[in-house]
Amino acid sequence: MKLTLLEKYDQDNIIVGKVDELINWARSNSQWYFQFGLACCAIEMMAAAAPRHDLERFGAMPRASPRQSDVMIVAGTVTLKMVERVRRLYEQMADPKYVISMGSCSNSGGPYWQHGYHVLKGVDQILPVDIYIAGCPPRPEALLQGLLELQKKIKEETPLRKKTV
Ligand code: SF4
Repeated sequence: MKLTLLEKYDQDNIIVGKVDELINWARSNSQWYFQFGLACCAIEMMAAAAPRHDLERFGAMPRASPRQSDVMIVAGTVTLKMVERVRRLYEQMADPKYVISMGSCSNSGGPYWQHGYHVLKGVDQILPVDIYIAGCPPRPEALLQGLLELQKKIKEETPLRKKTV
């Protein structure tokens, strides 16, 4: 029996689409995030990874090495003492890489904004932040929303096209 083209695609599990879209489909659904935290917001990040919220449903899983991570979730207070460490860990991640700033401390210094002489007033002073999540602390659902927003952003990219200078 001769199969129609559609039936053949069905049978062989062939997916047709632009290469950019297929690559982005895979990349946006495998956000491996770097497993590290700086303060209380990291507890919410851990809760998001636990079974109740289960980030792995969306392909987001923690990696213990920056070299295997696509996303850095800056969860907590970035003290001046940690600035160099955070930057070095970011630089050890392979491209393309993304940054989520989770919580008020990381966004702007949070409760330390006015008198915290030891706190960086926003991680965007040292890293290119893609997504900001508000709250002190943000709930796991908010982190989930942030990861979904990052998925949308990744899907807009054109990884095969050369960047124009
Ligand atoms: S934003 Fe609030 S919960 Fe998050 S690290 Fe700062 S003080 Fe802690």
